[in-house]
Amino acid sequence: MKKILSLVLILVLTVTMLCACDSSEQQDSDTEKKTLTMGTNAEFPPYEYRDGNEIVGIDVEITQAIAKKLDMELKIEDMKFDAIVPAIVSGKVDIGVAGMTVTEERKENVDFTDSYATGVQAIIVKEDSKIKTADDLLKKGANVKVGVQLGTTGDIYCTDDLKANESGTVEEYDKGADAVQALVNGKIDCVVIDKEPAKSFVAENEGLKILDTEYLVEDYAIAVAKDNTELKTQINDALKELIKDGTVQQIIDKYIKAE
Ligand code: GLN
Repeated sequence: MKKILSLVLILVLTVTMLCACDSSEQQDSDTEKKTLTMGTNAEFPPYEYRDGNEIVGIDVEITQAIAKKLDMELKIEDMKFDAIVPAIVSGKVDIGVAGMTVTEERKENVDFTDSYATGVQAIIVKEDSKIKTADDLLKKGANVKVGVQLGTTGDIYCTDDLKANESGTVEEYDKGADAVQALVNGKIDCVVIDKEPAKSFVAENEGLKILDTEYLVEDYAIAVAKDNTELKTQINDALKELIKDGTVQQIIDKYIKAE
């Protein structure tokens, strides 16, 4: 009798457990999180870069914090920088987070959230370079060769300015690191690129320095499709909270040490 009782008990327990599992699975799929797909170019330390197979950095952590607030699952799509805006327009990704500068030209195709960081266009030269200031790039007949990352503001401004001043030519590279390599190899005279990645490229290569004069100061923001005002509002609300409670600054400080 005892044996039968315990057998029944075990059976009842097992069935209960199975049911419990089943229903929790059911619940999981009912409340499956929406994904937030972020397009980025993981060649831009410390904002986004690869650490082994993982994509990490300031933009990744800020967007993760935003996704958490919106109860969404973050997915990252790595692509060329100049493919990000088209990917937002075509709906391949929901947002672009890539140390992306707010520009009037980009605003014709995408909307921007509030800014979450400041960027600076810096100039990298060899330590013994004749180029001493930003003005040296804009003197008629200077014949400077400036390396930039394709499609970035450094590319856009230098292409316009050097042409207008007849002071030299621009060489476009897919990655900032490739432009810096060309500088090391003497193929170009300088690289114009955002200051934080510039610092990490200079740290990785002997004989380079960043000029004290800056080319331009800019705002970084998250790009969203023009017809997705709902997502833009949600992200702005989340950003406001994350800026107010110090999360954004904490993330920036983790990657950028005060000078
Ligand atoms: N801030 C620059 C731009 O928006 C560069 C960004 C990047 O290379 N990821 O064009």
